[in-house]
Amino acid sequence: MTIVTNLGFPRIGARRELKRALESYWHGESDAAQLQATAAELRVRHWKLQREAGVDLPPSNDFSLYDHVLDTAFLFDAIPERYRTLAVCAPLAAYFAMARGLQRPGIDLHALEMTKWFDTNYHYLVPELQAGQRFALRGDKPLAEYREAKALGIETRPVLLGPVSFLRLSKTTDGSDPLDLLGTLLPVYAQLLEALKAEGARWVQLDEPVLVQDLDDAARAAFRQAYARLADGPHPDILLATYFGALDDNLALAASLPVQGLHVDLVRAPEQLDAVLRALPAGRVLSLGLVDGRNIWRNPLDNALILARYARGHRGDDPLWLAPSCSLLHCPVDLALEKKLDAELRGWLAFSRQKLEELRLLADALDGRAGAEAALAPAREAADARRRSSRVHNAAVKARMAALTAADTARATPHARRLPLQTAALRLPAFPTTTIGSFPQTREVREARARNKSGRLSDADYDAFLAVQTEQCVRVQEQIGLDVLVHGEFERNDMVEYFGEQLDGFAFTGNGWVQSYGSRCVKPPVIYGDASRPAPMTVRWSRYAQSLTQRPMKGMLTGPVTMLQWSFVRDDQERAQTCRQIALALRDEVTDLEAAGIAAIQIDEPALREGLPLRNAQRQRYLEWAVEAFRIAASGVADATQIHTHMCYAQFNDIIDSVAALDADVISIETSRSRMELLDAFARFDYPNQVGPGVYDIHSPRVPDRTEMVELLRRASEVLPAEKLWVNPDCGLKTRAWPETRAALEAMVDAAQVLRAELSAA
Ligand code: GLN
Ligand code: ZN
Repeated sequence: MTIVTNLGFPRIGARRELKRALESYWHGESDAAQLQATAAELRVRHWKLQREAGVDLPPSNDFSLYDHVLDTAFLFDAIPERYRTLAVCAPLAAYFAMARGLQRPGIDLHALEMTKWFDTNYHYLVPELQAGQRFALRGDKPLAEYREAKALGIETRPVLLGPVSFLRLSKTTDGSDPLDLLGTLLPVYAQLLEALKAEGARWVQLDEPVLVQDLDDAARAAFRQAYARLADGPHPDILLATYFGALDDNLALAASLPVQGLHVDLVRAPEQLDAVLRALPAGRVLSLGLVDGRNIWRNPLDNALILARYARGHRGDDPLWLAPSCSLLHCPVDLALEKKLDAELRGWLAFSRQKLEELRLLADALDGRAGAEAALAPAREAADARRRSSRVHNAAVKARMAALTAADTARATPHARRLPLQTAALRLPAFPTTTIGSFPQTREVREARARNKSGRLSDADYDAFLAVQTEQCVRVQEQIGLDVLVHGEFERNDMVEYFGEQLDGFAFTGNGWVQSYGSRCVKPPVIYGDASRPAPMTVRWSRYAQSLTQRPMKGMLTGPVTMLQWSFVRDDQERAQTCRQIALALRDEVTDLEAAGIAAIQIDEPALREGLPLRNAQRQRYLEWAVEAFRIAASGVADATQIHTHMCYAQFNDIIDSVAALDADVISIETSRSRMELLDAFARFDYPNQVGPGVYDIHSPRVPDRTEMVELLRRASEVLPAEKLWVNPDCGLKTRAWPETRAALEAMVDAAQVLRAELSAA
């Protein structure tokens, strides 16, 4: 009998119940008991849902009030000193302080750092450790949740982040290697496993996603040490879970560890199945990740069944489990609740619940249950319909893709020759000042958008409102004395959604929420078909803004890689192809903006770096097509038109050559986190084009003074030639309020003037 299992279920609730409960608790509108009651309700509902969908062995301890890595740190008492006093008297307050900081009169605790969970758009909190760190079991979350399910008559498999991945995802404050702490950490893991065993748990799932990354000898040794130690004591059977890619050169290691089961991702890496079958010792459980835990496409099932049957043939009587490729954390909950999509499109999709039902169908077919084979037909038919649909395929797009030549991926002239033309056309001084695009999205702006969306504000009135906002924004920038203005992005809800809604091949769900971090959820666009641009998207507002002023107005677009990265992407063609299609649509927008008299155009790519594959060997290829897509979007313009780009994450050292290869005339970058290191990277590489290192951090309401920014600009001009430098904030200003924005930009323009005076005196 084949077992259907699951690695993790989304916690937030189909209607974002957890988000609401958290936010009401944080605002003091409900108490901890109410929050915990909602959490418990969600867990119960999700276990029952999984059972109804046909899951034999659902997970527990996959629930989290905020983040499962934070839970792990908290569970093992890896609580940094600054939160400890609070943790003694108010553990929940300390937990949330670690997650989001805590400001009260006389208390100012900053949060743990947050970063992306592997190559997903989920963010985890980075545990902060130090040499000599002690660990201890704190509370009994995994045991309590196991018990909770048991009380419903449901046997679950508690999920824990494995010890090596936990340490690898942590950082230390003293520069020591987190892996040095393994020896101290393991007894506490062992103690927890023993307690789970005593509680009656038959299985425990240890997630070790770092096994699909490049590992050095130290990490491999850590794996051997860790699992030998855990095998040594009493423990439930251990399922070692790997996901997000192939084990590849870590397969022998994974197969040799003394555990009772191994989960492998056959969606990202179906090609590893044969090697896994050969490597895995007899008697082990093999858990096959057959449906995509990270994307929303309905599985055609036929190929998945072939993989399952192939595995069955090799494993004989050894147990075979079927599972999603990874936790379903990255998928919305239930397609049945989705009302916004049309029936045809909905027929192509599967959310978490549907994915578990797919696994049930597969398991029944594999076991030869009566009628099971016939039950696969609808999935096959849906896949056929999708493959043939005229909504997916656009002959004009395909023809254009086929006709692309190298000339379409490069500007006609090198930057050095373009630059003087651009500086003259834009009449730029030294140290030109600009902003990243958005200006404060005030309550008024958000309310007007919401009222327009719900029909309470007519399109004409909404347009008039936006025109006033834009005009005011232009006037403010003129008064402040900025050199290159922006229109302020008041018409945009979100930098991807705004474009996706205007492109063919994109769809938007009404309720397809996934957790981004904590209570923050996103509703990623669904890219289902060939992307194309039926009409100009931004020209109207840019042209209007330019008509208001003599100063140059910068056009503002979201780049192809970022659009791709923040969407559910079609799985029927390579990501590179989809990206290229979006790039072609944007190329038309860029040239239309140019034709409308916009002489500087910014193509934002904040997500370029986060698309990097998990394995080094695959990075170069990704960077090549990502850079090419940007260049396709950017290179249709004349030499005198200036292309800007903007990026947010600071670690560019390892991709600086690709950043240069974008050949944007100007790049503005977020530098608040590692300023000098970042500029050094640009200097060392002898970055050829212009750079705007963010001179102040927009993530805080604090207004920096002129001297601070002068200091930073002086430092910048020590490492880079002055004529390469622009002066701008770190990122868009949409989360800020007007008074601080104005004050900060005035100081910024003053700072630029100081630098100009110093330059002409020199
Ligand atoms: N142009 C966008 C803005 O200013 C860029 C946002 C971003 O970098 N994430 O809001
Ligand atoms: Zn940014």
